[in-house]
Amino acid sequence: MTDTRHSKILILGAGPAGYTAALYAARADLRPIVLAGPEPGGQLTTTTEVENFPGYPKGVTGPEMMEHLREQAERFGTEVIYDLANEVDLSQRPFRVVGDSGVYTADALIVATGASAKYMGLPSEQRLRNKGVTACATCDGAFFRNQHVAVIGGGDTAMEEAQYLTRMCASVHLIHRRDSFRASKVMQARTLENPKITVHWNRTVKEVLGDDGVTGLLLQDTTGGADERLDVTGMFLAIGHEPNSKPFAGKLDMDEAGYIKIARPGSTYTSVPGVFVCGDVADKVYRQAVTAAGTGCMAAIDAERWLAEHS
Ligand code: NDP
Repeated sequence: MTDTRHSKILILGAGPAGYTAALYAARADLRPIVLAGPEPGGQLTTTTEVENFPGYPKGVTGPEMMEHLREQAERFGTEVIYDLANEVDLSQRPFRVVGDSGVYTADALIVATGASAKYMGLPSEQRLRNKGVTACATCDGAFFRNQHVAVIGGGDTAMEEAQYLTRMCASVHLIHRRDSFRASKVMQARTLENPKITVHWNRTVKEVLGDDGVTGLLLQDTTGGADERLDVTGMFLAIGHEPNSKPFAGKLDMDEAGYIKIARPGSTYTSVPGVFVCGDVADKVYRQAVTAAGTGCMAAIDAERWLAEHS
């Protein structure tokens, strides 16, 4: 028989948003359960050094920081369960979540399932992930100081990442698969005017070169010309993110890209009363650990107040 667990607050996701929500909910004596999902610790577990989370003057590794966040949440009574939410029923209260190994009911639900950066799917790209291949300039740009790097993509994120990287890198090569950008005009103009950025139109990456670190890219001409080699030591993917919101499709209001919509500006309320959202699954602009943690705190406070009003 499947085990059913009830909690006042159930938190889906164990990244900075989920653990911060858990910390606040636990300190309010709400004994939250966190379902850790497919990637316990979230995107930070795939990065190496984190230097931009306040409170770590010497930096910290992503996995170590997530370990600290988990311990801190558990210290006040959070229970972390390593299960994956497959199905959610938000049509009645308590809400019901079906996981791989159990069923969970909750009076309030906090969605903190995060987002995943898209990768191109090349074996060489996967092999060199975090060894020169990354998807976050704000997180990792500082490791490429005075080096030549490439950014892949033609949207606003690619423009932003390329411009950011020009502050510390010797040069930035922007690789785009077509002959025009989809980014906003103002972002395009800033990119094209920046003397440190070279745009390579109509190019895709055929292979990331290097054994223990990136030494270059093999570029394919999408108009049929010859392949060419580009010498760079870093490759920043900026081809979009995917919010991890599939189980909520048709149940919570979302935008066209699948980011869960905030129902009341300045809060973490969703379209369903009693369901709150925090972190990257609702944020396509900032996407930082510290902003995720901030909204996690907001979600716990919103949920706690909502429970007090509705129980
Ligand atoms: P987008 O989906 O807008 O752009 C992705 C880019 O990556 C496109 O140029 C696309 O090419 C390219 N791409 C996609 N898949 C591949 C692939 N497999 N190989 C090579 N290239 C690929 O994503 P963004 O993250 O840039 O932006 C998401 C949303 O967030 C947008 O609405 C954007 O406006 C917004 N945003 C706003 C910001 C701001 O206002 N400051 C900052 C950042 C994002 P193609 O064009 O050919 O499809």
